[in-house]
This record gives sequence, C-alpha cells and structure tokens, in this order.
Amino acid sequence: MIVGAGIAGLAAALRLHRAGWEPIVVERAPARRSSGYMVNLVGWGYDAAEGLGILPALTGRDLGVFTTVMVRADGRPKFTVPPEIAEAAVGKRALTVFRGDLESALYEAVRDTVEIRFGTTVADVEQSTAEVRVGLSDGTTERAALLIGADGLHSGVRAAVFGPETGFRVDLQHVVGAFPLGGVPEGVAEGSGTTFIGPGRTAAIISLGPDRSSAFFTYRTGDAGAELERGPGRALAAAFGDLGGGVPHALRRLAADPAAAYFDSVSQIAMDRWSDGRVVLLGDAAWCVTLFAGYGAALALSGADRLGAALERHGSDVPAALAGWEEGLRPEVRKRQALARTGMHRFAPPSRAHVFMSEMTIRAILVPGVRGLVQRGIRRANR
Ligand SMILES: Cc1cc2nc3c(=O)[nH]c(=O)nc-3n(C[C@H](O)[C@H](O)[C@H](O)COP(=O)(O)OP(=O)(O)OC[C@H]3O[C@@H](n4cnc5c(N)ncnc54)[C@H](O)[C@@H]3O)c2cc1C
Repeated sequence: MIVGAGIAGLAAALRLHRAGWEPIVVERAPARRSSGYMVNLVGWGYDAAEGLGILPALTGRDLGVFTTVMVRADGRPKFTVPPEIAEAAVGKRALTVFRGDLESALYEAVRDTVEIRFGTTVADVEQSTAEVRVGLSDGTTERAALLIGADGLHSGVRAAVFGPETGFRVDLQHVVGAFPLGGVPEGVAEGSGTTFIGPGRTAAIISLGPDRSSAFFTYRTGDAGAELERGPGRALAAAFGDLGGGVPHALRRLAADPAAAYFDSVSQIAMDRWSDGRVVLLGDAAWCVTLFAGYGAALALSGADRLGAALERHGSDVPAALAGWEEGLRPEVRKRQALARTGMHRFAPPSRAHVFMSEMTIRAILVPGVRGLVQRGIRRANR
C-alpha cells in the first residue's frame, strides 16, 4: 500500500511492481495535476530515472539549459550567464523538467499495471508482525505486507504512525511560491530567465515559450504561518510588488489563478528512523531536504529505486530490507540537508553585502579558471 501518487509514491509503485509486488496507490487529490515548478535532475536523480526506465519519456520534455540574466529591482539587466556555463557545470547527465512532467512519465509507466485510487486517503493504521491493516477514507480496509508513506512534507502516514509533524519539522524561516505562467511572460526574452536577488528574497521568471514558462519566488520571514494564511496572491504581491521586469506579469497571472501555485513554508523533516515495523516513509515525508538543496526529487526517485532493490535482496524479511535501505541512504540525505541550510543564503542573502558577495561568486563563474573549479565542485557534490 503506497500513500501519495507524487514522485516518490509513483516511483515506488513502478519499482516494487518490477520486483514482483502488487502495489496499490492511494492519492488524496481527486485527479492528476500537471505542470507545477521546474525540477533539475542530476546525480542520483538522473541515475535513478535511468534505472527506472523513464529517461526516454523525460528526454522529450527536457527544458534544457537557458541564459540567465541577473537583473536589478526595476528589471534592468546587470549581467548575463550564458547557457553553456550552466551546461558545463552540471554535465551531460542532467535534465530540467516540470514536476508535473516527471510525475506524468512515472504515471504512464505504471497506469496499466498498478491500481491507483484518487480522492482517497488513509484513515487509520494498525500493524502486527505479519501485516499492516490500513483503513481508507472510502470506508474500505486493505491488508498489506508494507505501508509506504510517500505523502510529502505534511505526511498523514507520519502523523498516524510516528507522531505529529511539529516533532519532526525544522522550519528554515522562508516561504516559497512557484507556478507555471501559461503564456510567455512580458519583459523576459524567450529562451532566457531573469533572476533578481535582493536582501532576504529571490524572484526568477523563466521564459521558455507558451506552456513552458514559470515563475519562482522565495523570501525570508519570521512567521511563515502568517504568510501562508494570507495566501500566495496577497503574500507574494506584498513581498515582490515593488519589482519590475517580468515580475508584474507573473503576479497578475497568479492573481488570476492562485490555486495553480505551489505555496508553502520551507521546512526540512528530521527523523531518527524512517520505518516502524512494516511502515516506511519515503521522499519528502521522511527527509524533506527542501528546494534549497535542489535534490528532493532526486532523492525521492533514488530512494524508491533503492527501496525496491533492498526488498528484492531481503525477500520476505521486510524489516531487514528497510534497515539496510535506510543505512545506505542516510549519509546522502544528511549531506543534502546540510547543503540546503548553507545554500539558502544564496536565495535570500541576509544583507546587501551578502547580495554583493553572492553576485561576485556568480560573476566569478564566468572567468574560465574559476569556472573549472566550480564545475569540479558541483560534479563532486553530485557524484
Ligand atoms: C519550488 C521547488 C523547486 C524544486 N526544485 C527541485 C530541483 O530542482 N531538483 C530536485 O531534485 N528537487 C526539487 N524540489 C523538491 C522536489 O519537488 C520534492 O522533493 C519532491 O517533489 C518530493 O516528492 P514526494 O513524492 O516525496 O512528495 P510530493 O511531491 O509532495 O508528493 C506527495 C503526494 O502525496 C499526496 N498526499 C499528500 N497527503 C496525502 C494524504 N494524506 N493521503 C494521500 N495522498 C496524500 C500529494 O497530493 C502528492 O501527490 C523542488 C521543490 C520546490 C517546492
């Protein structure tokens, strides 16, 4: 039984089915959603996509690399980072796709072989050494050898089996809003993205053509809960309404369709154990590293792939498989969570001096000698 038809849940369904299991997936949303924000798949994420057999489906949806124009508050350019720089930094084994396209590729790979029940969630969980009994919101009960909670940052399975979210959530004091733009954004040349970085905030508008353009905002706040209560339209307009360039167009799009936005606090999940008997958490539900790591989807895919492999290796000894799986994953998750905590200052520098330093770092990448050093650093981190 897998809870959540997101990246982790669908990848687990695909991999476990291949390992001879008969997964059932329940998803709270009434139907599949599409689009969303842009996700880079590098390192373990690219390797897992290859292992899961979804690379061919993703390659056709790859948004590729594009020119980044660093801009002032009024939208005027400061300097440009050509696409070759990004390409050289991440290497050939990298993809940029919409989150919805990644989910679609996984969904297409399982839809004919795995039962997926939309509009359904878990009501209660009970387990013995032999099985897990899962009561569902539609009134039915399923008996399973394993329950996988792949239901994201605000996991219901985690709350039901391990305890309330507040016991595990580490707030990084930022809010993120990201959404597709539908049409082409005004004021941003097609094939490029503009990025404004100011004290405590970043706004990026990516213009890659109709249905391929998107906006991304993040800002520091002492009270993420209050920001979330205001909703994305009001909160992002208050935090970014003074900016020019492509931002006003993006905020107007958001006002017209606030439900299309991903809007949440930036929080990590820290747990001593990801499994309890025959219940295991996977992806953001277990270890959310946040967007600041740029690696959450990668870990969701790779975690699912490795979980399938561990279950294959250990046969019917589920607890042993879960223990071995967790031991293999922990160091990478720890590393990515730490990188996110240090990396968040790049997105929301604490002061003007930090903004200046951050720009100097980006400019330095344009210098051939320094570029080599940075490339080697990025590739080492993603190995
Ligand atoms: C703006 C942004 C940019 C990002 N960029 C990158 C990037 O460049 N590279 C990268 O690797 N990662 C990136 N990430 C992180 C990545 O998107 C997440 O780590 C990844 O989506 C986690 O997948 P998941 O399946 O664990 O959780 P989710 O994607 O949150 O999916 C959980 C699923 O469970 C469902 N669900 C929730 N509660 C219940 C319930 N009670 N019952 C049933 N179903 C439920 C949800 O509807 C959803 O379908 C980014 C994140 C953000 C926000």
